[in-house]
Amino acid sequence: MTARLGDGFIFRPEVETRSPGAQAKRDREAYRRQLAYLFANSAFHRDKLGAAGFASPDSVGELDDIARLPFTEKDEIRKSQADAPPLGHHQAAPWDKIVRIYSTSGTTGDPCYMPLTAADLSAWVEISARSYTATGVRRGQRMVTTYNAGPFVAGAALDTFNLLGACHAPVGTGNTERLAKALQKLKADILVCTPSYAQYLGEWLRERQIDPRGIGLKRISVAGEPGGGEDGFRSGLEATFGAKVCEAMGIGDVSISLWGECDAQKGMHFSGGDYVHVELIDPGSGAPIAITDGASGELVYTALAREAAPVLRFRSRDHVIVWTEPCACGRTTLRARCIGRTDDMLILRGVNLFPTAVRDVVAGFRPEVSGALLIKPNAPGVRQEPPLPVNVELGAGGEARSGLAEAIEAAIRARLVATVRVTLVPYGSLPRSEYKTKLVSHPH
Ligand SMILES: [Zn+2]
Repeated sequence: MTARLGDGFIFRPEVETRSPGAQAKRDREAYRRQLAYLFANSAFHRDKLGAAGFASPDSVGELDDIARLPFTEKDEIRKSQADAPPLGHHQAAPWDKIVRIYSTSGTTGDPCYMPLTAADLSAWVEISARSYTATGVRRGQRMVTTYNAGPFVAGAALDTFNLLGACHAPVGTGNTERLAKALQKLKADILVCTPSYAQYLGEWLRERQIDPRGIGLKRISVAGEPGGGEDGFRSGLEATFGAKVCEAMGIGDVSISLWGECDAQKGMHFSGGDYVHVELIDPGSGAPIAITDGASGELVYTALAREAAPVLRFRSRDHVIVWTEPCACGRTTLRARCIGRTDDMLILRGVNLFPTAVRDVVAGFRPEVSGALLIKPNAPGVRQEPPLPVNVELGAGGEARSGLAEAIEAAIRARLVATVRVTLVPYGSLPRSEYKTKLVSHPH
């Protein structure tokens, strides 16, 4: 028996400590059941697979052959819903079985609806109970969350917190003063928020002469955008609050909190065992990438037991590094760290550059800088010519020391092989957010 980290509590040990081989065997069986279900119930998938030359579940073959099948893109889901409103051709369960409908925020066009049957909803609760347990949520702890849960998929996490038995005070976003009060008055142990908001909250408190460490938070569970697990950014947050920072990640069309990081902080554990199959692909060519320790690529998901709106080879646009070696916490599940969204990636003379990676390098220069930055490409689009302009904000009350901009440029060149031109700007001049902070501003 190896020593385990923390209290060693694992929500579903029979799944989360299962051998990868035993999991693969179960996934093959679930995949065959799901494919039979798709052909019987999903016009969207039946038509797509038929067009790709697969006329029956048998012709599709085994899970090991999945890379032969076409991807599902988010745009196809949107189009399916526009063509057959309200839920789309991919609705695969009858209305009387659907118990919940979440939607996207609809900031770009119409909201996209995500229906769940009772079985789908309980699967989400199970999956996120595993991942939130990994990030340290326990019975008896006081937890303040900033999810604006109402219409959005994060709402399903409320059911998870009930199941875990944490003492949960939902505060939402929109009022940082109310959040700070809740943390102080309720003597919260855990804060759940986006990495951007955690960073902003630290500044907000300090500007009001409140020591963030004095609040007494033990943990911050960050989710909603990539970068919360990157070393420079994370250690800055941990130092600010004197709290452990662990990451979680979900994806609306597949599951909330599908990944959750344990105290080892060596990547987020995959928590969707028995419900979701994971692939890694090259985002450019779509070619499969073998899941081995240290491999990197875009995550692709296939539902294994979904009823209302199952996805098959769904492209996440999340670019990750994965690890397969056993973890000190005792879980045997795949681990991942999201490097960034493929959609946010810039290409600088053939080098892929993720804005969150730039933020991580810049965070290493705190407190001379605040950690806020804005990448300002000269040209529209993904491909950029170096040097890439980056505005970096000075720390509170800070004067730019000579050589600081050059030192940041050198660190980015050394770590990310990218040539940027840093312009230092005054503290407080760049945008902050209680949700996801914009890191890139293209010319219009
Ligand atoms: Zn672990």
